[in-house]
Parts: sequence; structure tokens; C-alpha cells
Amino acid sequence: MRKIALAGFISLSSVTAGYAQDASDKTTIIHAGQMLDVESGKLLQDRFIIIDGDTIRNVLTLNDMEDMEEEDIDFIDLSNMYVLPGLTDAHVHLTSDANVHGYKRLTRSTPRAAITGVRNAKRTLMAGFTTVRNVGAPGFTDVDLMEAIEDGDVPGPTIIPAGRSIGITGGHCDNNLLPFENRRKAGGVADGPWAVRAKVRENKKFGAKVIKFCGTGGVLSKGTKVGAQQFAFEEMKAIVDEAHLLGMKVAVHAHGQEGINTAIEAGVDSVEHSSFISDAGIRAVKANGTYLSMDVYVSDYILSEGEAAGILEESLAKERTVGKIQRERFQAAVKAGAKMAYGTDAGVYPHGDNGRQLAYMVKWGMSPLQAIQTATINNAKLFGLESQIGSLKSGKMADIIAVENNPLSDVSELEHVDFVMKGGAVFKSKVE
Ligand SMILES: [Zn+2]
Repeated sequence: MRKIALAGFISLSSVTAGYAQDASDKTTIIHAGQMLDVESGKLLQDRFIIIDGDTIRNVLTLNDMEDMEEEDIDFIDLSNMYVLPGLTDAHVHLTSDANVHGYKRLTRSTPRAAITGVRNAKRTLMAGFTTVRNVGAPGFTDVDLMEAIEDGDVPGPTIIPAGRSIGITGGHCDNNLLPFENRRKAGGVADGPWAVRAKVRENKKFGAKVIKFCGTGGVLSKGTKVGAQQFAFEEMKAIVDEAHLLGMKVAVHAHGQEGINTAIEAGVDSVEHSSFISDAGIRAVKANGTYLSMDVYVSDYILSEGEAAGILEESLAKERTVGKIQRERFQAAVKAGAKMAYGTDAGVYPHGDNGRQLAYMVKWGMSPLQAIQTATINNAKLFGLESQIGSLKSGKMADIIAVENNPLSDVSELEHVDFVMKGGAVFKSKVE
């Protein structure tokens, strides 16, 4: 059946950037010159990925293909490329823009944020990120965006939406920019164990698939101390228990040691940022199987572009105390063998640059393979989607990317992905 390799070429020039062909019930074969098995770290030569509709049927060698008898197959020649599973990001804000921070944000309506999300979803997908966790959006704009993408109205990654981030009155997940007479309160604000349980239920009701809460102050919020714990243990425990009852994972925003340790004890599934995590905290995540999602790139963007983007002077001062320590703690966590996720906080910096963090992770102690694993198989496990995404295996979604040069030699190759397939449909191809 070698003929397959010569006939039935899909015309990739017909792929309009960002708009997929209908993948519904056709069979596609990708010839991957080099296919990265992200679990073993091996580059497998000349593999043929057989795709039915949106799902990988099988991955075969040329010999295995001998007795395949099929007609009407689209053939995609990536024989000169390095082929990987689609990348994933555990921490994005698709409806936020990197040049709209601080008081500028008050000028943006919720519908405007949704439109911003449409553009950013496309940028994210075209950068090779085929699944993202959206951890905090005004209203439920991320749920709407997820639905519009699922319906095929607009291109974008698979979204796991959190809806509103849950937080204390006056905390990092509240809106503290205006004085009392013009006060605003963010949609996810709740105080007390029963009130936070109700908020979790409400988020679920309106479409959230993951729960995000703020367990400490943050860099970009007004009037919060970056390391200081927010929520008492009882409140964190109530959020986690309720979310788990409803079948949702929990991501906590946490920079400081006490907040991190309390959240781990409460049973969260991932700690976002984790900037000042202590050695005891690292031991605790290892004992509990908690993932660390450390955004080790974003600091450079905040400090170089932040002022022009409207970031408060108070926030820039906070970032100066966080960035370097976070990277050192990242290094310590990697050395200790903690489970690492790939979360970048895209939205604070421009969407589509999600891949930039990979090189930072390598600079701060990971091998290129380890960095790639965080953005593929590790995130898949954190999301509870390891049977569907994260590697190129029979039965998984056909979320596939390709680059020209070996990302195991230089991981920054993944900052410019040349080929993107999501659910069996080609969205981007520089391959002719
Ligand atoms: Zn964030």
C-alpha cells in the first residue's frame, strides 16, 4: 500500500489560515519524518499517523501499512518535519489583553472582553496550543468562547473554562481600583465556607469545568500583599471539597508560603505561580501529587512592557520582588522532582507567545524533553484528559503540531510552530 504515500495528497494551499477544513468523517494519514514520543523521549523515524475524523486510529511504520487497503485518503507529508502532540497551557486569560492593565481595564465591557477572546483564541491555536485552561474571565465569557469554538464559529483551542475566579472581598480576585462610592465587586467574590461552596456551584451551573481561586495576594491587583494568604483553611477546604464533589479540579493562585501550604493541605490539584514555595511546600506537593504551574517567563514581560500597558507602579514594585525568587524556587522544585505543569499567564503578556516559557524552563533547570512534557503529557494528566490528549497514541484526539528543527536540541523551535492540526482538521501549514 505504498501508493498511499504518492497519491491523494491533501492540497494544503487550500488551508486558509486559521480556518479548518471539515474533518468530520474522512481518513487522513500524516507521514511524520520524526515523531516525538513525549513519554519515552524517543524520536521515532518515519511513522504514519492514521486519523479517522478527529481521532488517531493508529500510529504505524511503513511495514505495518502494507496491508492497509483504503481509498479516499488525505495524505499529509511531514516527512521533513518533527511532529509532536499539540501543546497545552494550564494558565491563560484569553479575554484579557497584555496592553490593558490597571485602570485601563475599567474601560473594557464584558462583551468587549469576549471579542478580545475571539482574537486571542485564534492566536493561541496558531501558536500550536490546542488545549488551554482559562483560569478567570469576566462573566462567563470563556464558557461562551469554548462553545463558539466547539460549534466551529471561530477557530481556537479546546478550552477548559473556570468562569469567575473565586476570591475574598478586597483580595487578588476582587476589583479594588475604585473608592467606596464607586465600588465594584468582582463576580467571584465570596466570604465564608458556605458562601464559597455556593460560588463553586454557581460556576458549575454556568459552565465552568475547573475551579480557580485566589489563595494569596497578587502582583497585578491593587492593595494586596503578594505573599499574604487569602481565605482561611476552612474556606479553601470548602472550595476544594465542593469542586471535587462536582467532578472539577481546583487551581489556586498562590505566591506566598503559608497560602501555598494551606491550599495544598486543603487538597488543590495545582498551585499557580508558586513563587515563594518553601522546601516544606515542595515536600508537600510531592507527597500529595499536586502539580506546580510556575509562570517563569511572564516576569520579563511585566518589567519591560508593564508601565506602558497600564500596570500600576505598586505592581511593578511587587514583580521586582517576585520574578527572580520564583525562578530559583522553580529550579529547586525541578531538582526535587515535583510534578510540573505548563502554565504561563498569557493575557498578562501577548497571547500567541505561549511557547516562550519553554526556553525559560530549560534555562532554569529542565531538559528540553522535560519542558515539552510539562506542556503535553503532564498538563493532560493535570486536566484529567490523559486518555484524550497529551501524546500521539491510538484513541487520542488528532491534535498534532510540527516544526522544522529538532525541539530536543533547541526547545525555542516551538516558539514558531509550522503546522497545526486540531481534532483532525488542519488550521495552519507552511508545508506545501
Ligand atoms: Zn493568571
